[in-house]
Amino acid sequence: MIKLSGVSRRFQLGEQWVNGLQSVDLNIPKGQYLSVMGPSGSGKSTLLNIIGLLDRPDRGHYFLNDRDTACLNDKALAELRSNTIGFVFQSFHLVSRLTAFENIELPLMLVGMAPVKRRQIVERLMEQLGLTERAHHAPHQLSGGQRQRVAIARAMAHSPSVLLADEPTGNLDSQSGREVVELLESLNQQQGLTLILVTHDSQLGHRAPRVLQMADGAIIQDTLPHSRHFAKEECSGEPCA
Ligand code: ADP
Ligand code: MG
Repeated sequence: MIKLSGVSRRFQLGEQWVNGLQSVDLNIPKGQYLSVMGPSGSGKSTLLNIIGLLDRPDRGHYFLNDRDTACLNDKALAELRSNTIGFVFQSFHLVSRLTAFENIELPLMLVGMAPVKRRQIVERLMEQLGLTERAHHAPHQLSGGQRQRVAIARAMAHSPSVLLADEPTGNLDSQSGREVVELLESLNQQQGLTLILVTHDSQLGHRAPRVLQMADGAIIQDTLPHSRHFAKEECSGEPCA
């Protein structure tokens, strides 16, 4: 369901060009759990941002659910993103003025969902993620682990099929970090969610059945045998309808 073919992304820094990703080929079947590891600057976030439709490749093609995302305009991309992708970040990105409940509700409000339906979804998520007692707390009244659980609940509000977590444990102590990863794993196992976990922590990273190692914008190791030998789908080069 996720397929990258020859994907490159470079960034301009003053006079210089920096390679974020270099000709990455990757196939991720629906429901897979994989971790992405590698030193700082190796392209992990760039890869996640492209998979999460927050950024686009300069070269190559990214297919999500068999659709070539290069063929989608900004509106179609935003729609595909909000229907398909949930994102969790290292620094939680919660709105400090809102309660835990309101933070989870926010994406549903933004798409104009009716209040009764919103409440049902938020209450179910809070219960599932063990947050019911914290519903009316502001982020500063929550522990790091609880904040990240609120962020995960918010990412799940749209029932995404892909959950992308960029160093979700980076700001947590090791105990809360492991709990957050266990929670993500349970969503993968119980709901068949595709889970991509970027982490610095090799112990956490190696819990995943598939581990990618990145360096200099390339995947230098993939524990899934033969996964890099899929046939490349050539783009016709025709403009998309
Ligand atoms: P990681 O997440 O593994 O630390 P990144 O994907 O953030 O790595 O970065 C990969 C490379 O691309 C680095 O050299 C980084 O400096 C560069 N890079 C990433 N995003 C930008 C950007 N928005 N502008 C300029 N350079 C960037
Ligand atoms: Mg990063």
